[in-house]
Amino acid sequence: MATKRDYYEVLGVDRKASTEDIKKAYRKAAKACHPDLHPNDSACEVRFRELNEANEILSDPEKRARYDQFGMDGPPMGGFGGAGFDASGFGGFESIFDQLFGGGMGGQAQRSGPRPGNDLRFNMRVTFEEAAFGAKKSFDFMRNEECETCHGSRAKPGTQPVTCATCKGTGQVRSGGGFMVTVRTCPTCQGTGQTVSDPCQTCSGTGRQRKKRTATINVPAGIDNGQVIVMNGQGEPGTAGGPRGDLQVVISVTPHRLFARDGTTLYLDMPITFTQAALGATIEIPTLGGKTSYKMPEGTQDGAKFRIKGEGIKQLHGSGKGDLVVRVRVEIPKRMNNRQKELLKEFEKAATGKEYEEQKSFLEKVKSVFQ
Ligand SMILES: [Zn+2]
Ligand SMILES: [Zn+2]
Repeated sequence: MATKRDYYEVLGVDRKASTEDIKKAYRKAAKACHPDLHPNDSACEVRFRELNEANEILSDPEKRARYDQFGMDGPPMGGFGGAGFDASGFGGFESIFDQLFGGGMGGQAQRSGPRPGNDLRFNMRVTFEEAAFGAKKSFDFMRNEECETCHGSRAKPGTQPVTCATCKGTGQVRSGGGFMVTVRTCPTCQGTGQTVSDPCQTCSGTGRQRKKRTATINVPAGIDNGQVIVMNGQGEPGTAGGPRGDLQVVISVTPHRLFARDGTTLYLDMPITFTQAALGATIEIPTLGGKTSYKMPEGTQDGAKFRIKGEGIKQLHGSGKGDLVVRVRVEIPKRMNNRQKELLKEFEKAATGKEYEEQKSFLEKVKSVFQ
């Protein structure tokens, strides 16, 4: 992976800058290198792209918090917004073409034969643990069913639908002549080939009734944000004997208070004391399923990462498990009593000069710069 510059550095703002300041800095910088103003300037183009990327992350509080916590190599940005109940019918491939071409491609209008029902989409929120370990979930959703009164015929009981006069029952109308014959779905009967003079009152002549349904689904262990579970044949009913559409359950995973996730890898930021870091320690690490211990070496640095095998998320299609990556944060004590301060002063006095490699090399560099 190519190394990237820090987003704050890209925008030239402080790490504590407000969202307003970030947007202001972005606008100012983007204006200066906008590709429209500098055509054929590839350096400008690169800079412009870099600015856009930085702005996208830092001007979004959620993405920014994630970036602050994990940096570039953290879990991927983004995620699936919108949760809860939202079962909205949406057409499949066919209906998109219907909309674009007014009923079929290449002059082939939709015939009055069987048509599959529309797919339904349901957004389901699951907890972080449910996504990791799997769960059985039930949910209610609204779905169109065949009208109980007219059984889908759309006509009032005792009456019959009649053949459509506009299309003579074919469901399609032709217009034009010569080379340009246009065939489209009949506007009078919407392609069904039949019209109803006395509509059913229960369904207002639609042949459908909206009903509440309950579905139960097995959420497999390892599922991730935005993934879709398809329940075949659980969507809207088809017309003229066509099969039902599908019910697509879109998964939205609630973030965890401790862990972040990227695929099967779990990430945990964990504070340790400066004495634990200096002396080394066996620390107890929380995992999704419980806890584990890890022997941290002497002289562990702030930001050091440890990988704990097999404590991540199970593979969705497979038997393996990912790892848990723990990043330690060394905490410096903020309130100390006099005895503690005395001991630390004693510790300083006992310094040999070999304790702090980074500071030593830094001072040497300073010396070489200013000699
Ligand atoms: Zn009806
Ligand atoms: Zn018709």
